[in-house]
Amino acid sequence: MSTASKTSVIPRKVDALKSCTQGATYEGIIMPQDMPRLSAAVVTIQREVAAKVSFFRDESNYRVVTGEFDALVSVQCERCLSALDYDLHAEMDLAIVISELQLENLPKECEGWLLDENTDADLYEAIEEELLLALPIVSYHDLADCSAQGQYSTGDFEEPVPEKKNPFAVLGRLKLADKADSTDKES
Ligand SMILES: [Zn+2]
Repeated sequence: MSTASKTSVIPRKVDALKSCTQGATYEGIIMPQDMPRLSAAVVTIQREVAAKVSFFRDESNYRVVTGEFDALVSVQCERCLSALDYDLHAEMDLAIVISELQLENLPKECEGWLLDENTDADLYEAIEEELLLALPIVSYHDLADCSAQGQYSTGDFEEPVPEKKNPFAVLGRLKLADKADSTDKES
């Protein structure tokens, strides 16, 4: 991948049928804010999602779209509830169909993507779907890296209070700092 292609944003809407005929490949990035469902499913999407999508007709003349996507996200460790980085990788391999009948007639090993012939396909939505499916159901730090290690020696898993959800924690700290400032210069 060249630097130039990495920094270009791939289009959201593409004419999938024409792209298959042309054998078009779209390679570039998608901005994190264009992946709202993925954003909601993780702590943060740390940088642009790298994507490469190819449209073509395969040897059986099916219209096919394949793709590879990479995202760096933060997910919550279910043991210590702090964030950990996760390299999210997803792939796409779909047969493009334009009717229910075509969808039914696909070979059973093929996953279909039913599109309206007259409407451009939403590439971002399809890519986001694949990334969501590739997310781990639960995530944990490696035991050695987890801040909760050794805290639950009884085996009972107590639910710790998540710190980051409390919007007043910052406020409380500010107030304390204020007080400290006015009464005591020592920090
Ligand atoms: Zn952890």
